[in-house]
Amino acid sequence: MRMTDQRRVIARVIEGASDHPDVEELYRRASSVDPRISLSTVYRTVNLFEEAGLVTKHDFKDGRARFELIPDEHHDHLIDIRSGTVIEFRNEEIEAIQEVIAKRLGYKLVDHRLELYAVPISDKKA
Ligand SMILES: [Zn+2]
Repeated sequence: MRMTDQRRVIARVIEGASDHPDVEELYRRASSVDPRISLSTVYRTVNLFEEAGLVTKHDFKDGRARFELIPDEHHDHLIDIRSGTVIEFRNEEIEAIQEVIAKRLGYKLVDHRLELYAVPISDKKA
């Protein structure tokens, strides 16, 4: 893949993000660095990056595709459905049990995705 200046800016924005931004948010950030970058360029670029295995796309059920760099270390996500906050976590018991489940079904686990949708416990509304 040819790394143009605009693609490089978009790559840096994704790299610098810890909040799993959607395309519109990536566009806001990238165009503040380089105003020539258009929304359609951001769309095309994130899809290219995804095809090239540089970024991963998430669907956190709010109708917006979110992007993050493929992390060195696997993690899962908890999504606060009230605020939309995405929290990354890793739990070794969950990692282990998933391997057990796959093995019982006759498979060797090679990847998984886990999303927890939650509301804050303190936020009790009867
Ligand atoms: Zn993440």
